[in-house]
Amino acid sequence: MSSMTKSMARYDARPKAKQSELYEERWTVPQIENLNDLMCHDRPEDILLWAEENFSPKLKFSCQFSMEDVVLLHLMHRLGVQAEVFFLDTGRLHQETYDLVETYREQFHFDINVYTPDTQGLAGILSKNGVNPFYRNRQARQECCFVRKMEPMARALDGADAWVSGQRQEYVTNATGVVAIDSLHGGILQINPIYYWDSAAVWEYVRQHQIPYNRLYDQGFASVGCSPCNRPLHEGESVADGTWWWEDAKENDLPVLKNSEVHRVG
Ligand code: SF4
Repeated sequence: MSSMTKSMARYDARPKAKQSELYEERWTVPQIENLNDLMCHDRPEDILLWAEENFSPKLKFSCQFSMEDVVLLHLMHRLGVQAEVFFLDTGRLHQETYDLVETYREQFHFDINVYTPDTQGLAGILSKNGVNPFYRNRQARQECCFVRKMEPMARALDGADAWVSGQRQEYVTNATGVVAIDSLHGGILQINPIYYWDSAAVWEYVRQHQIPYNRLYDQGFASVGCSPCNRPLHEGESVADGTWWWEDAKENDLPVLKNSEVHRVG
């Protein structure tokens, strides 16, 4: 029995009563641990097909056009995985990111649902904190993130039972895995098909399939988020140094990049 077949069997064996309980109890921790044990050696292709079989049409894919995201977009296209692809336009992204979105829409005919910040909410924080509030203080930065990213993300995931993410083990410090309970969004399932890939594997896939990628990586960026809050990395800097570098406390203790990795990632 393949590991995927075993994971399907375990999924189907979930107690039905649990599924109708409180949002936070859609999944239990032991169920998630079991799924992660079963799927940790599965190929991303198998994980995506498992996700489609179990969650489509309530399966979504959050695509911010990072290197990981374009790999997943390409994989899903190759496999014909049915999922709503959505993109959060914070309004402050790099031109390179917008160019890449257009490339995928025009050349590859991808349907991409775009979510933007709530107009009133955005006007409110801009009036209160100024148009560049991120550098003012941590609270102003978090309010900006809430209005431009978190609230639209919650709207985008409304109605979903599961969503696909490009999260990789290299970039998280908390224990996650191929699947995780997304407690921020009602306890739905977050699925990370390339969780165990390293940067080299991601780049190898992009090169092998010659897929368009975000040119910010060629400039040394490790993260392709908002323009005011992300900068290129230099040798010896951690991935965290490239984002919100003016804040003292970092939310994540992310890996330090060696020079070769800076050039590979960037
Ligand atoms: Fe605002 Fe920066 Fe957060 Fe983007 S990353 S939403 S610009 S604070």
